[in-house]
Amino acid sequence: MLNLTRQMIEIRNLLASIDHDGLRLPSIVVIGSQSSGKSSVLEAIVGQEFLPKGSNMVTRRPIELTLINTPEAAADVAEFPALKMHNLTDFEQVQKILLDLNLAVPEKDCISSDPIQITIRSPRVPDLSLVDLPGYIQVEAADQPLELKQKIRKLCDRYLEAPNIILAISAADVDLANSSALRASRTADPRGERTIGVVTKIDLVDPERATKILTNKKYPLRMGYVGVITKAPPTSKGGSGLFSRKAISGYQAYVAQQNFEHSYLKENKEDFYGTTTGTRNLKKKLMKVLEKSMAASLAPTHLAIQQDLEETSYQFKVEFNDRPLTPEMYLANNIDMLKLATKDLSHEFSRRELKSLLKNELDQKVLDLLAERYWNKPFNLKQNQNALVEPNLKELSQITNIDDDIYWHKKLDLTTSSLTKMGVGRISTSLVTNALLKEIENLVDNTQLKNHPMAKNAVSEAAKTVLGAKYYSTADQVENCIKPYKYEIEIEDREWQASKENSVRLLKEEIRQCDEVYNNLKKQIGGRKLQQVVSYLERLKQQQTTDVDFNSPEALGFSPSLIQRGQDAIFLKDRLSLLKMRYSFVKNSKKCKKKENKYQCPEIFLDAVASKVTSTSILFLNVELLSDFYYNFPRELDMKFFNNLSKEEIEKFAKEDPRIKKHIELQERKDLYENALSKIESVLAIQRTKTTGIVKNE
Ligand code: GDP
Repeated sequence: MLNLTRQMIEIRNLLASIDHDGLRLPSIVVIGSQSSGKSSVLEAIVGQEFLPKGSNMVTRRPIELTLINTPEAAADVAEFPALKMHNLTDFEQVQKILLDLNLAVPEKDCISSDPIQITIRSPRVPDLSLVDLPGYIQVEAADQPLELKQKIRKLCDRYLEAPNIILAISAADVDLANSSALRASRTADPRGERTIGVVTKIDLVDPERATKILTNKKYPLRMGYVGVITKAPPTSKGGSGLFSRKAISGYQAYVAQQNFEHSYLKENKEDFYGTTTGTRNLKKKLMKVLEKSMAASLAPTHLAIQQDLEETSYQFKVEFNDRPLTPEMYLANNIDMLKLATKDLSHEFSRRELKSLLKNELDQKVLDLLAERYWNKPFNLKQNQNALVEPNLKELSQITNIDDDIYWHKKLDLTTSSLTKMGVGRISTSLVTNALLKEIENLVDNTQLKNHPMAKNAVSEAAKTVLGAKYYSTADQVENCIKPYKYEIEIEDREWQASKENSVRLLKEEIRQCDEVYNNLKKQIGGRKLQQVVSYLERLKQQQTTDVDFNSPEALGFSPSLIQRGQDAIFLKDRLSLLKMRYSFVKNSKKCKKKENKYQCPEIFLDAVASKVTSTSILFLNVELLSDFYYNFPRELDMKFFNNLSKEEIEKFAKEDPRIKKHIELQERKDLYENALSKIESVLAIQRTKTTGIVKNE
């Protein structure tokens, strides 16, 4: 018997998560005005003081209480499944949690319809499912705004609806005509078919009067009334006479109540003849009534679930082609796709790509160095002065025997050393690291993960973790392996030829860019105006008037910014003519065909150095960083997504995508229906064997 009810309670709780009025198995809803003894009744049933107390304590959220009988258990245990709090044995703590949960509802809202779920397991409790309903009575009494009253009423009405059973608590020392619990239950259950009347405090009136109340015909209830004493008076004979009432609590209070009730009812046995009294009998009655009404609800619920299941299955088939999906599957699929894509990346993004990436970067550095060390004169007025002292780049192309020219030797040596000592280890490692991070970002954007900000972030974190772990050691290794180039560089003819071609290409591109900037400048200012200011500046240059104050009114009415633009234009023109000169020299001069003439062709030589540094760096980067990344990144993904994420987080992740959310929820609903159906079927089967058994026995 007991187990059947428990199974039905399980089914009830299962169905409770579905927001569907037709799919409800009954529960017992407890109502009573303040001080009617409602809390005392619930605590006498549970055998523990667990409800928050205090003169101002009004329940603000429904408490859904599941009681599970555990005959073998040594202690009473409470749990709040929604809060993931299990195995609580300290009921003062339970009381405190309930108080906090209640107080979390803002006073202005008065109540919340979100129920608090609590399960208590104890050898003393029967298998029951009870709801402590908030504030019904407040509606009648308090002067709250209409809207709030309606809200409270709506919430209560939903709980008081069939098939739920109403436990209406009234105190014996108050006229039943004034019982707000009975008034409320009569509205929800006018024929009194689902209501059990509980009359508390029968010790406060004389037994005759109590019996009259319990057997009254004025407010008939089919399930009748039960008289109880749920609190022992301050001093009682019930085994706790030594203690004042305030001094006892918890289990002691329960024992005192049980003893007092027992002896009081025993003493007045004759007066109470023909009535139902005592918390023990109340518990029995509740169990019986609940089991019966649950059993009666099973068949209709089964039918309703079947209908819903059919509809859900159809929808599942049409919309999702019966494809099973759970949050875990969705996550695993996505991570697998990402891993596959990373594998493909390891073929595509390997040495060759890395090489051109790093070479491009070094090409830019080489161009910067050339601009800084070689292509810098004569560009503006002030530097032009120095050009008188220092050899001019034009001279370089014209020198016939450069071997003697220490100036150009030193220049190339210094520039080469700037290139090899600029921190290639760090530059190349960051370059590859950033490029890989970008590639991974692109991969993610090609999967469904792009719809999940949290996951996107986690993937990028995983990549950063793996790359970060190797960053410094790789940078050091690369720096070490290019060390020889800091001292000596041997270049082969083949390499020289390739670098010559690349230099020509780079110079050509540099000319194009320079030209573009110059034309843009012209467009912005207007060709004529630019020409005017340029001519003015060039005239000044010819006059060697270098200390002109351009801000003075003598500057022919040109604004300082126009003068600046004019200087930029001259700079660009100079740079262009210089680049063109170098372009034709590097491309056509016989000198540039031979590596021996490196001092005259710094562009080619520096390119050759950059190529060598690139090849060597990439060799190490490939082993140190890339191979390590392709090996460890998938493992890090597993760590981040499967080891570190909780079930809830995975679910939250999957449901970020509305379509996936729908798919998963439909599947969950289907699973839940199937599960509930099979449970109901097994209970129905037991019931059937029981009835046929009884028939046979008869
Ligand atoms: P609630 O406000 O409806 O939850 O009522 P409580 O359970 O807090 O009880 C209100 C008061 O009545 C408390 O002081 C209880 O001690 C007292 N009380 C409750 N049940 C009984 C009873 O059966 N007999 C007596 N004498 N007092 C009771």
